[in-house]
Parts: sequence; structure tokens; C-alpha cells
Amino acid sequence: TFEPLASDFFGYSAQLSDQEKESIMALRSYLETEVKPLVNGLWERAEFPHQIVKKLAELDVYRFGWESTKPFENSAVFRGFVALELARIDASVATHVGVHNGLAMGSVNVAGSDEQRAEWLPKMASGEIVGAFGLTEPDSGSDSAQGLRTVATRDGDDWILNGSKRWIGNATFSDITIIWAKSAEDGQVKGFIVKTDTPGYTATKIEGKQSLRIVQNADITLENVRVPESMRLQNANSFRDTASVLRLTRAEVAWAAVGNSIGAYEAALRYTKQRVQFGKPIASHQLVQDLLVKSLGNITSSLGMVVQVSRMLDEGVQRDEHSALAKAFATARMRETVAWCREALGGNGIVLEYDVARHFADAEALYSYEGTREMNTLIVGRTITGFAAFV
Ligand code: FAD
Repeated sequence: TFEPLASDFFGYSAQLSDQEKESIMALRSYLETEVKPLVNGLWERAEFPHQIVKKLAELDVYRFGWESTKPFENSAVFRGFVALELARIDASVATHVGVHNGLAMGSVNVAGSDEQRAEWLPKMASGEIVGAFGLTEPDSGSDSAQGLRTVATRDGDDWILNGSKRWIGNATFSDITIIWAKSAEDGQVKGFIVKTDTPGYTATKIEGKQSLRIVQNADITLENVRVPESMRLQNANSFRDTASVLRLTRAEVAWAAVGNSIGAYEAALRYTKQRVQFGKPIASHQLVQDLLVKSLGNITSSLGMVVQVSRMLDEGVQRDEHSALAKAFATARMRETVAWCREALGGNGIVLEYDVARHFADAEALYSYEGTREMNTLIVGRTITGFAAFV
């Protein structure tokens, strides 16, 4: 039977269908029993648990969003709760799913032809192959709509890719990476499905990350990488098409931010009810209750926002500025929340085994990837004022 999370204080999950609730409980049970016990160790060693790919595929986590692979009709609100449940246990695991399922499969789904969808999505949905999404470059992050330096040059029936990418999630082990490059022909951004064993393609793990240490990120170099025209995403004609993939995944990052906050909040609540100072549990001190209630307020307001932005997707009215506002707002509230939860644990708040430090550190990457708070703010600013501040 379905158990709403106690931190879903206003009961938003009540609107899920019975089948959706059943799926959420199966996922939660797997994550709590088999993934949670591993995450602090994995985080310390900066190691990705490859065994989860098969299991997440069995739980249909890579299938829910796409017409051709969905196991049952489901709502965007449900898929948001999936991202929340993943990030509640570990934001890196949520990021792995967001990259493979949201960004890589999303690119094929949104910008691929019928044939490309039929060829790639089933293999990706089953976890047989893992995807990555290469947009960001060493010299082009926030300005990737205009600033991409990776070039695609047409050569008969092939394209030749040259350039480099940075920060690419899953790319240390991905089987395919979607590479976004500027066409030398028309200067427009195009997307390519690149098999990672293609000569000239190299991915190198980024070491020393202090946030999302479990998910792996890579620097990629592309030296005369030859890709057939049949692997060019047939409906990606300009950055506008790349942006339509990002609109969907940004909303899911907002959901993951709520999940990451909930992970920290639950640990803080548990700890403060047990830890005794001045002869009573610290949860009975007024100022500690203030930290907990402010955290719950942030979680509840962000959850209300992401539920609505997902409903707008289901209704076909979600626009870039809607998911941008949700991402900017929910990640900023998350950053406050994990800091308050950290504070509620005193010194133990910085020790991994107390389950807040990881959520605290991971918040930083969620805050900056898929568009920094500033860039998402400027997307909304452009809509409300009519002035684009970033071109
Ligand atoms: P910059 O663009 O250099 O920005 C630095 C600062 O300047 C930011 O605060 C930014 O907001 C600010 N700034 C820049 N321009 C303006 C402006 N006009 N006005 C106001 N402020 C501005 N990318 C992928 O393609 N695929 C992935 O899988 C992927 N995964 C990632 C995973 C992690 C853990 C991280 C950290 C990043 C990942 N990224 C990925 C890249 C991510 O999307 C970029 O880091 C992000 O877009 C910001 O780019 P940047 O880091 O180059 O920062």
C-alpha cells in the first residue's frame, strides 16, 4: 500500500493513480534497502554503482516518459515524483537517470526520426546501452546557445566532428553520447548520436569533484570523429530543438532538488529527536524546531511549484520560462534547506554517516547544472520584461 512521505506535508502525492503509486513504492523499497546503505561509501570513493542500471531498468525507470516505451499511461507529476524519490536517496543516482533517460533518450525522442526512435529507445530503456549528453564545452557553458566551438563538417554521407566537451555525465562509461555541434554548412546547432568506440572519441573522468561524487563526469575530445548522416538527429535543426529537450529536464532537476532537500530534512528530523542537550532532545528546543519548520516550508512551497509545472506539461502549456522559474526557485530553496539541516546536526552535520553532509554538498551541483540560477533567472526575466539580458 502507498505511503505518502511525511515531508509531502500538503499531500500532493495523493493525486497519483493507483498504478503510479504502486510503481513509486516498488522504487522506494529498492532504493531504501539496496541503494541507501551503499551511498556514503560510494560518495567517499567517488564510485558509480553500475549494478543499479539493470535494476532501475527492471523497475521501468528509463521507460516512463516516452510514448514508445511506457509500461502504462502516466503523468508528468508521477515522473517528477520518480525523480524526487531517487534524489531523496541520492542526487547522483537521480542525475544518472536524468542524463540517460531525460537528456540522452529525450534528445532521441524529441529530435530523432521515427527510425531513430525505433532503433535506439528500446535498447536504452532496457539499460542495454547507456547514454550521455554532450552540450557543455570547456569554453562554453552558460552561453552554449551561441558559443559552441565543436564543429560538424559534412563529408559525403558522413559528418566529421571536431572539438571538446566538458562535464558530460555518465560519459566515462556511456555506449553512446549525444554530441551537439555547430554545422560548418549553415552555422546551426545539430545533434549527433555518437558511438563511444568511434575512432577519435576520447572521454576522461573529471577527478576531484566535491559534489555529486557518485555520478561520473567526463571531459570529451573529438578528433575527426566520423558519424554517418543516419546518426544525425533528423529533427534537430537549431539550438531551439536542443532547448526543447532542456525544458523537460530542467523541470525534473527542480523535482530532484526537492528530493535532495527531503533527504537532508528527514535525516535532520531523525537526528534532532534523538540527540539530547540541556537534558532534552534538541528537537524540543524552539530554535531547532524553527530550522526544521523553515526546511519543511521550503520543501512544501517547492513541491507545490513543481507539481504545477508538471501539470502544465501534461496540459501542453509548459514553456521554457515555467521550467526555468521552477529550477531556479527549487534549487535556491534547496540550498537554504540543506544548510539549515546541516546546522541542526551541529558538528555531526559535516560527517558523511549522519546523512546530511552528502545532500549538502550535492546541492551545489544541482544548483549550477542544466542552467545556473542566473541563466534560468534571465530566461524568466526575458519573458516578464521583454528584454533579453544575455544575448
Ligand atoms: P559559466 O557559464 O562559466 O558561468 C559561471 C558563472 O557566471 C555562473 O554563476 C553563471 O551563472 C554566471 N554567468 C554567466 N553568464 C552570465 C550572464 N550573462 N549573466 C549573469 N551571470 C552569468 N553539461 C552537459 O552538456 N552535459 C552534462 O551531462 C552535464 N552534467 C553536469 C554535471 C555536473 C556535476 C556539473 C557541475 C555540470 C554539468 N554540465 C553538463 C554542465 C553545466 O550545465 C554547466 O556547468 C552550466 O551550464 C554552467 O556552465 P559553466 O560551468 O561553464 O559556468
